Amino acid sequence: MVVTYHRPTRAIIHRKALRENIKNEIDRLPEGFELFAVVKADGYGHGAIATAQMALSVGATGFCVATLDEAIELREAGITEPILVLSVVFPSYLSLVVDYDLSITVATKEWLIESQEVLKDLEETTAPIKIHIKADTGMGRIGFLTPEEVKEAAEIIEASPNMIWEGLFTHFATADEKDTSYWHKQAERFNEVIAALDHLPRYVHSSNSATALWHDQEMPGNMIRYGVGMYGLNPSGHELPETYPLKPAMELVSELIQVKELASGEGVGYGKTYDTPKKEWIGTIPIGYADGWLRKMQGFSLLVDGEFCEIVGRVCMDQLMIRLPRDFKVGTKVTLIGKNNGQEITMQDVADHLGTIHYEVCCMLSERVPRIYQ
Ligand code: PLP
Repeated sequence: MVVTYHRPTRAIIHRKALRENIKNEIDRLPEGFELFAVVKADGYGHGAIATAQMALSVGATGFCVATLDEAIELREAGITEPILVLSVVFPSYLSLVVDYDLSITVATKEWLIESQEVLKDLEETTAPIKIHIKADTGMGRIGFLTPEEVKEAAEIIEASPNMIWEGLFTHFATADEKDTSYWHKQAERFNEVIAALDHLPRYVHSSNSATALWHDQEMPGNMIRYGVGMYGLNPSGHELPETYPLKPAMELVSELIQVKELASGEGVGYGKTYDTPKKEWIGTIPIGYADGWLRKMQGFSLLVDGEFCEIVGRVCMDQLMIRLPRDFKVGTKVTLIGKNNGQEITMQDVADHLGTIHYEVCCMLSERVPRIYQ
């Protein structure tokens, strides 16, 4: 998909906000902890390379991504710090892991056995691959289930000349909830894993943003994987108050490209789902579901000159229409997410309208929308 610069729709990414979020988090980390910035899914839609560089400039010491290709993108952009791929990389791709000097996750013994075979066959293996063992303490996703399995995996890695045991980690399922009982159960299980090992690798990590924000005094490990918090979004949505003010890094803006006064009883949009009940000013904005602004956003209100204006009629692929309180000039700024003349629409407001979480909203914004860094 081509990035569409020649129209007024833009996601503005505020460097200062993103840097401050990371810096604030680093400043309050317990002694000995490091912060790896989670920039998977193109930095949660904020741009992986740009946000990684911002994170680096304020003290992040490594990065987490979800896929091998995301890791390669960062390396090719010149990032030299550790990059951990959080999900499983098939053994058949290990030559890339070696070539790009990446850290990867192991979640099963079978993967280790298969990988040893692959690594033996790699002709030009110059450096051993760095492995983080994933313990599944209650997420039910990937990872070893028992301390014994983790111990065995560590022994296999340490006995292998082509592998280095670099990390041990787990992931919490409910760190963003008021009820902390399941969080504590997982923490206890992870502490049992740690206790079963004779020694620990360089990195031990358990914390996503929610754990770092609300369990900072009890989180196991020496590194945090800080994701949504760095983008200025409260991981819990509405459930828990922010530990310190998180500053939303993304704004989504556009402009009115046409303004017209429709007579009473005129239809708006595909399917004519909206009829003007009286004479009304209707504005058109160049953003639609191909930009990730879904059809379900019909009925949501956008900001024009500090006034909330409802999206009327169906959202089209590339455009949508709003009901204006009066005539506005073509070129007037429209805010879809962010502040506008004393009012604000948050990513959470959009998520609430869609019945989802803000993580999904920022990830959904398509590549067609240019990311502009300010
Ligand atoms: N660690 C793992 C394993 C993840 O899957 C994620 C995100 O989904 C994170 C860390 C970062 O989580 P958050 O964005 O909530 O900080």
